[in-house]
Amino acid sequence: MIRAAIVVVACLLVGCERTVSVPRSADADAFGHSAPTQHTVRANRALEGLLDLDDPADFANAERGLIARSESLRITRDDGRVVWDQDQYAFVTGAAPESVNPSLWRQARLNGLHGLYEVTAGVYQVRGYDLANLTIIVGETGWILVDPLTMQETVAAALEFARAHLPSKPVVAVLFTHSHVDHFGGIDGVLTPEERSAVRIVAPEGFLHEAVSENVIAGPAMTRRAALMYGRPLSRSVRGHVDTGLGKEPAANGRISILAPTDVIDHTVQRMTLDGVRFEFQFAPGSEAPAEFTFYLPDLGAFCGAEVLSRNLHNVYTLRGAKVRDALRWSNYIDEALSLFGQRATSYFGSHHWPVWGTAEIVAYMKKQRDVYKYIHDQTLRMANQGLTSAEIAEAIELPESLRGEFAVRGYYGTPRHNAKAVYQFYFGWYDGVPAHLDPLPPERAGRRYVEFMGGADELLANAEEAYAEGDYRWVAQVVNHLVFADPDNVAARALLARSYDQLGYQAESGPWRDVYLTGAYELRHGPAASEVNLADAGGLLARIPIASFLDSMATRIDGRKADGVEVTINVVFSDLEETHVLTVENAVLHHRQGRADPVASATLTLTRSLFLRLVTGAAGLRETLFSDELEVDGSVTDLISFFLLLDRQAGPFNIVTP
Ligand SMILES: [Zn+2]
Repeated sequence: MIRAAIVVVACLLVGCERTVSVPRSADADAFGHSAPTQHTVRANRALEGLLDLDDPADFANAERGLIARSESLRITRDDGRVVWDQDQYAFVTGAAPESVNPSLWRQARLNGLHGLYEVTAGVYQVRGYDLANLTIIVGETGWILVDPLTMQETVAAALEFARAHLPSKPVVAVLFTHSHVDHFGGIDGVLTPEERSAVRIVAPEGFLHEAVSENVIAGPAMTRRAALMYGRPLSRSVRGHVDTGLGKEPAANGRISILAPTDVIDHTVQRMTLDGVRFEFQFAPGSEAPAEFTFYLPDLGAFCGAEVLSRNLHNVYTLRGAKVRDALRWSNYIDEALSLFGQRATSYFGSHHWPVWGTAEIVAYMKKQRDVYKYIHDQTLRMANQGLTSAEIAEAIELPESLRGEFAVRGYYGTPRHNAKAVYQFYFGWYDGVPAHLDPLPPERAGRRYVEFMGGADELLANAEEAYAEGDYRWVAQVVNHLVFADPDNVAARALLARSYDQLGYQAESGPWRDVYLTGAYELRHGPAASEVNLADAGGLLARIPIASFLDSMATRIDGRKADGVEVTINVVFSDLEETHVLTVENAVLHHRQGRADPVASATLTLTRSLFLRLVTGAAGLRETLFSDELEVDGSVTDLISFFLLLDRQAGPFNIVTP
């Protein structure tokens, strides 16, 4: 899921945007979300006829092996801030309300089950304490932990709960199945100082690099977009966020960190014995994550598919924005795992969701997972080769009946529609080949012209209201969005667009689609919510970013116009790393090279890595820091200041739903 939380770099966001008073509909809830319309109620009911939503099998499996459940599950950190709160989802029970897609509601109920569970003798899971699962494998002398969650507060609570109900043992090894932060960020919450010095950390090759640098460059934009994908500002309510599909939500407000592996998995099948437990690993890079593995425990007949398999259609493309994934390669890994492990496994467990028991059931489950990605891949290419473009393929693609009826591959997280676009993008890029799409006018200019051609704002709104009354919400959103981009102060337009987003959200089966639409509606009514990201909470992670990755991301903040004509060279000496990097600006681009200081540089700056990070991210003030004793400047301070002033500063959360 969420990739490295290094996204926090340069992302100390504060609220901005002027307030626009958007009229509330009479049936609005406290946050302005309108009531579900009859069209929405009908659309949601129609799904009840297509799916056997009362099928009890998943509920039975999700509850199987329950050892203990805490009555209330609310995890707070020392200063009282809430890091995790399952209690706020107490409303997700019983029949689906009219404002939630009933299939998503079913998944939301399943993801709300939390507790300590036995998967098979010697393998336990704590589920529902974060977005992902903590798995405990009992070794001869200690515990082997798999995926220590996102934050140290959540994993510490999960481990404490397990220790209260199982014969407690020290942690002797930790497995990071992949490079996404919900599977490693909590590491500081599980090890005592003694354990830390002796623990074995097993991770896939490339883990550390991918985990800490994958999203440094695009971090601020991804963080901003993630607020929509996960419905961060929404209430947890029947007209708000109910689930991500993958789990309730990513934990927040806690501390994240990382540890370098002591043992690296780099081939298939790689065998290893940890504390007397035999492991067989499948190396699966470039699947769901750039660095990932699955593993089999031959003595227990248990297979862990990490996040290569899950109980939903996963994202080939994730809506917060990320490099698109290779659906064919992903499917092929599942096929390989099926022949290596699946056909002899008697129990299956993963990094998210609940297990599968019985070889026949595991084989059937793996085949459906394998085939949903391959089907979307193959059909997208088939249609593309027939001349259909991305949007046309997305509209046309439909899973075969054998997959459609299978809950474990339904679009609770990814959707066939946006994953088909992802496959198209993987092979063909953003351009669909239509000349009119090569260089269209940008949204604000196009918006003004559309509105003009449609007879002006009033005419457009009158027509859009009619389309809304007919339940044509996709079209209403498409058209009224032009008006909002032409004139963001048109409150009637904002209100109508928000109402259409409400209905699209209520109908969505995908958690992220629901959250994207409902957060869009929220932001049209209230503006973007302030994001409080505390760099100190990610200190353990930030300390791992290679300086070169950090400088690459710094170069993307050079304001090209300001830097036009500037030529300057600065030496940066990192006193704690004993590394010197030479930074040069010419042709309005910043280059960096590690090596010897340039003798003709305008200035040489000597400081620690953490101070440099604070300086560049704006956490430390430029002038105060440059004149303080924490660093040393040799050469021109004025040139140094002008150099730093070339960097863009993020003023607050940028607009998405308005220009
Ligand atoms: Zn995950």
